[in-house]
Amino acid sequence: MHELSICQATLKQILDIGQSYPNHVVSCITLKIGPLSGVEPFLLEQAFPLASINTIAENAELIIEHLPVKILCLQCDTESKTPPNRLLCQKCGAWQTKLISGDEMLLASLEFQELTIE
Ligand SMILES: [Zn+2]
Repeated sequence: MHELSICQATLKQILDIGQSYPNHVVSCITLKIGPLSGVEPFLLEQAFPLASINTIAENAELIIEHLPVKILCLQCDTESKTPPNRLLCQKCGAWQTKLISGDEMLLASLEFQELTIE
């Protein structure tokens, strides 16, 4: 499953950051996903609990935010937001456009919680 390997890569990034916070667990993870990233947020939500078992992110809440698709027109140099299936300049209608956002998946934020020693 594609989403599981993405989860594992993201988790590795999270665990690397987590090394700077000893005695903390991850309480909340925010990911930003563009519609052209090829990542299905629903599948990612399903894969995450499996990928995170026995890690400091095991009980973290996963929040997924959706990024807009933005293009830059190569004809008139205008930036526009477009639907993911219609990458046309919203000003002049040209199809010669460059994607500037919408195909990425970003780790937007992480929240850590200190472990309480009982
Ligand atoms: Zn244009």
